[in-house]
Amino acid sequence: MAAAEYVRVRVMSVGDRPEAAWAEGLRVTVPADLPKRLSWTVTASRDLLLNAMSMPAAPSDAAALRERAAFTDRAPASSRLPISYQRIPGRVRAVVGSLIGRWNRGRADRWAAFPGWPIDLSVDLLSDLTSPRRPRATGPTPVVLTHDIDSPEGLRNLVIRFLPLEESAGAQSTSYIVPCAWDVDEGLASEVTGRGHDIGVHGYDHSNLTPFTAAGERLRRLDAALPFAKRHGSVGYRAPSLLRTRALLRDLAGRYHYDSSIPTSGGLFPVPNNGCATARPFTIEGIRELPLSMPRDGSLRFLGYSPDEIVALWIHCADLIARSGGVVVLLTHCERRFSGDERMFDAYRRFLEYVRGRSDRFAFMRATDVVDERAH
Ligand SMILES: [Zn+2]
Repeated sequence: MAAAEYVRVRVMSVGDRPEAAWAEGLRVTVPADLPKRLSWTVTASRDLLLNAMSMPAAPSDAAALRERAAFTDRAPASSRLPISYQRIPGRVRAVVGSLIGRWNRGRADRWAAFPGWPIDLSVDLLSDLTSPRRPRATGPTPVVLTHDIDSPEGLRNLVIRFLPLEESAGAQSTSYIVPCAWDVDEGLASEVTGRGHDIGVHGYDHSNLTPFTAAGERLRRLDAALPFAKRHGSVGYRAPSLLRTRALLRDLAGRYHYDSSIPTSGGLFPVPNNGCATARPFTIEGIRELPLSMPRDGSLRFLGYSPDEIVALWIHCADLIARSGGVVVLLTHCERRFSGDERMFDAYRRFLEYVRGRSDRFAFMRATDVVDERAH
């Protein structure tokens, strides 16, 4: 995967391909040999122009780009500690993450060379430039609100604060709960589904080992979560810390209907330069994937974004995804050190209000309602 195999360009004109016009003005990454192969013009200043002579891309071009950085094949330091990193107090982890994040905020060209930060829809542009032409998604853009529930505090905050807010906006959310690390309050969990929201499975014990362990141990961990999944009607999975390998997805395929662990643009976390550069659901290793298309609360806080900056960025990204025909998938954590704090909770409230006020453009949906649609 040498850097020279790909080139970053600015889309100046898509020629007679109106379905790709949403990308004009954006920066995208394409295979370096593609412009010459398909008679696309790239100027000396890296502007991309298509004209009447330009040929369509192949679906395999889009698929290869989508999988280029889709997996985190190497275990990060947190998976190699002699004790579970979960035993390091969350506040200490948050401070360390924040220091790393602030140090790195201005260096996005290194940790988000591809996919670009905060959002990168290169694959969706290539898909819209393939032949035969893909019909444009119709109807309002789905907005999927998700939470990763890492602790009893997160579950309490979900039920007491987040669900009422979402219900008042007419939304039902999807919460991925860690099934085998702490005593899940089954009464609270049942209340979540009883009120029409979805519960999915968030790994095993959140020690970041499942994707990297030997096959037998991985299957044991995945199977241990199944009774929880069955109790709560869970058909979706999200990997803790978004750590995912092909082997993990293959093993998920027989156990869940969909996975939602691959970010569109992962940025700095869990490893630099990770993501699938698409905001549209797709199939990979035999399972449906709902990409996590929006910048995450944890990454944004770690990088030092203020709540005001975060709302503005979420709105910007949601509007872009709407123009491009993708699905808005937002992840927030309900713990106080993430989005459960007053100012972040208010930022989340403002984003929901923005979406609710534009029912011509957006519609709140649960992950299960959209994962089979808007496919590549
Ligand atoms: Zn988590």
